[in-house]
Amino acid sequence: MDRIQISDIFQQVAQLLEVQGGNPYRVGAYRRAARSLVDFSGSLDGLAGAGRLREIPGIGEKLAQDVAEVLKTGDLALRRELLATLPKGVEELLRIPNLGPKRARILLEKLQIGSLGELEYACNENRLLDLPGFGARIQDVILAGIERLKRFKGRFLLSDGLEAAALLTAGLANHPQCAQLSEAGSVRRGCETVKDVDLVAAGRPCRVLLDVFYATPGAVMQTPRGNKAKIRLKNGLQVDLHCVSPAQFPAALLHYTGSREHNIALREHARGLGFDLSPQGLRNAGGLIACASEEDLYRILQLAPIAPELRENRGEIAAAAENRLPRLVQEADLRGVFHVHTVASDGRATLAELAAAARARGWSYLGICDHSQSAHYARGLDAERVREQWRDIDELNSQFEDFQLLKGIESDILVDGRLDYPDELLAGFDFVIASIHSHFNLGPAAQTRRLLAAIANPRTTMLGHPSGRLLLARDAYQFDQQAVLQAAARHGVVVELNANPQRLDLDWRLLRTARDLGVLIAINPDAHSVQGLDHVRYGVISARKGWLEARDILNCREKGEMLQYLRARRAGFAARVACP
Ligand SMILES: [Zn+2]
Ligand SMILES: [Zn+2]
Repeated sequence: MDRIQISDIFQQVAQLLEVQGGNPYRVGAYRRAARSLVDFSGSLDGLAGAGRLREIPGIGEKLAQDVAEVLKTGDLALRRELLATLPKGVEELLRIPNLGPKRARILLEKLQIGSLGELEYACNENRLLDLPGFGARIQDVILAGIERLKRFKGRFLLSDGLEAAALLTAGLANHPQCAQLSEAGSVRRGCETVKDVDLVAAGRPCRVLLDVFYATPGAVMQTPRGNKAKIRLKNGLQVDLHCVSPAQFPAALLHYTGSREHNIALREHARGLGFDLSPQGLRNAGGLIACASEEDLYRILQLAPIAPELRENRGEIAAAAENRLPRLVQEADLRGVFHVHTVASDGRATLAELAAAARARGWSYLGICDHSQSAHYARGLDAERVREQWRDIDELNSQFEDFQLLKGIESDILVDGRLDYPDELLAGFDFVIASIHSHFNLGPAAQTRRLLAAIANPRTTMLGHPSGRLLLARDAYQFDQQAVLQAAARHGVVVELNANPQRLDLDWRLLRTARDLGVLIAINPDAHSVQGLDHVRYGVISARKGWLEARDILNCREKGEMLQYLRARRAGFAARVACP
């Protein structure tokens, strides 16, 4: 341990103490000691041995003990204790330029932010604008800092993967040597997070395509190997280009798209029919069989074409063999969306702007859904502002013939499971999304009770982001998923597939379970701006991955049918009140 390393430890202790709200004198003492250790030019070991550490300026008795402890053990118990009491992500937060311990403390105290992902989410929802010591400029600087830090992490959101794939395929697709090109791998399968992006190109000669690929602006070339090229993009995401001959393309695309388990099962299926399937192509005793496309390959293997999203070895090969694959939902099936925030709470767009954007997308309804009164951090609406918004919606609706804004709310589920408004106000909404935004750590039993209470409330139309996870940032809270989905089915409560790429919640692995229990799903953008409406794209991909068809999804229904569903849910309540 040299004096610089010890100084770093003292510096960190000062920061952590400050985040924790420790005594300013104590914070200052560690900070001064850290500086004075940097300036110190003598031998620390010598001074320590002679018991004379206090001769260093700024080092009193307690700090001298600390220096001795670090010299002896290589660390400070106080540092470890502080780290143990603060959220795990605090160290990471402090690595963001311009954040610092003072602001980290405010974030922790006011918004309960303890990780990079939570902070990024808060920035994207403009939570930092009104926070003391923050504002628009700082929010942007912090976002840029987070972007840089994410570069060093191993995984990326699906949205990042799709964006990179689009950028690179655009660069290659028009090249005269490029006969065929496709994204592959986990991005093509629509996995919620990806480690890298795979592209497959058919061209002759491959060399030319690889050179185009390497020339991607801002990309760093990795060691090339044969006909495979690797680059790393500015955000740290790695992209692999597999270059093959046009004849190999279908089998290579199949190989680089399927999950490992799917590929093994598919090869097994092929072997059963007397074929040998490899990335190079499909063979039988007579040699290589010419295939023009993946569909061709599937046909020869006596399978209906399997959509990339399904290639996870979850029964898709058997279903394809028996021609009972689902007719997967498509973005064009959406007739409208729910869960859109406006400037009234934490969104950026007005009712009129959102209505115009929804109509431009060809939707016939848009479910307005701001935060409820308990969500102070997001300027949740009190009863008076709710009624004001209803008047604005009525006025706008009177101008539309073929389009309707729906009056909704994202009601916090309070810690005891109640919704956030008195019943007479809740009764006035067209729909109510009940969501958990606080008390994530109740434990599975209490959290399940809380969710079940919200579902049993006849005013609840939908359960919002059911698990509360933030991908690559925050785990789902613990609860009994099966019990919650069963209750949703029993009460006719719709379960949200939150399409925000940081959420994609309900997880696609549970969508089929939910559907089979009889739960209706809504693909909700949770938009906080006009662009946020585009999130539905990721939701549709996840829904497809969960084997869902249009008929499984509430907002694939025409407006009349959808309104009927909402009315029936509300009437169910009225009926129950009338006949006890
Ligand atoms: Zn929410
Ligand atoms: Zn929301």
